[in-house]
Amino acid sequence: MNTTGRGLSPEQYEWLQRTLKGFTLSPEAWISTLMSYGIPADYLTGRATACPVCGGDDRFTYDNKHGRGDWVCRQCNGGDPMAGDGLQLITRVAHIGLFRLMRELTGGAPSSTRPVVDFKAPRPKRKASPAFVEKRLNGMWQDARPQTVGDLSMRYLQERVPGLTAGPSASLRLGVLEYRHDGAVLGKWPGILARFELPDGRLGTLHRTFLDPIKPAKAAIVSADGEILDAKLNDMTLNPLAGGAVRLMQPVDGEIGVGEGLETVYGAFMETGVPVWNCLNRVLLSKFVVPEGLGIKVVHIFMDFDHIDLKTGKSPGVAAGMALAKRLRAEGYTVVQHRPRLRGTDFADQWKARFLAANEVAPTGQRLVRASRPAATA
Ligand SMILES: [Zn+2]
Repeated sequence: MNTTGRGLSPEQYEWLQRTLKGFTLSPEAWISTLMSYGIPADYLTGRATACPVCGGDDRFTYDNKHGRGDWVCRQCNGGDPMAGDGLQLITRVAHIGLFRLMRELTGGAPSSTRPVVDFKAPRPKRKASPAFVEKRLNGMWQDARPQTVGDLSMRYLQERVPGLTAGPSASLRLGVLEYRHDGAVLGKWPGILARFELPDGRLGTLHRTFLDPIKPAKAAIVSADGEILDAKLNDMTLNPLAGGAVRLMQPVDGEIGVGEGLETVYGAFMETGVPVWNCLNRVLLSKFVVPEGLGIKVVHIFMDFDHIDLKTGKSPGVAAGMALAKRLRAEGYTVVQHRPRLRGTDFADQWKARFLAANEVAPTGQRLVRASRPAATA
């Protein structure tokens, strides 16, 4: 985490160290400071509560033991215990650096011969070099944490796909991601990075889903003009994306399923048990190419059952799936097409509706579990 010297001038770094040493707050001031950075009072009572960083039920205790806003969480260190002070808690919850936090709390910091700017950022409207894009994407991926059971990315997916039984995926990571819009950084949010790989294994891009720092939901991101911005988008493109997918799971018995979104394919997995990959959108779904060397012989295509597009007279999601099916069959693959039962839904909707209905009828008894094998519907 960027809480120390990175990006700071020597003067600023020295100021930060000095300021941290002399920084004290009364117990009441700690509470109000923590609250002003978005940590609700319920978390600061001294009793065991959910953790404002990693969630859960009763893993977090704010005890202010040493008068520094101290806290302890049983799972904050990737599932292991972690303790820290109030400043650290704010930087983790609010996703701001320690320098900025201390400047805000104390109202001053030296300006410097080397201003604090983000050297990683591309200049807007100028095409970045492949070397720059590669460095940026690899840096983001390396800085992010592999997905782990119970982390924010898993909790988000389980909120979207209730009852999800899929474990962590090697192609997903949880990072702290900058949101740029019109050449400016709007802030940082936790986010899911999805590694989009081409058939030959090269990286195409990283798809990003920005998340709310506390609750398992998409981040609400608003531009300076009040425009609500998309919380899901690709980062820069390193290699043209046609043919690729986010390889969420390993093929099983030579079978893989593809669809056009993270929740959709996880919903399809829950409905059918087929391991799934995400092609991101219907255009890329229609261009999917089966990688060699993985023994894939059967491709399940999970189509979105979109409403009819009046211009083409077709359901766009179904048309994309049919185009892919036709090409893959010509290439010699066995293709199984799947379509949700209701028009205007995708497999995430279908699974969620079925799961919620089943659990409403039998809240404590029998739970709906996913089918062991697919039931094909063309
Ligand atoms: Zn925690």
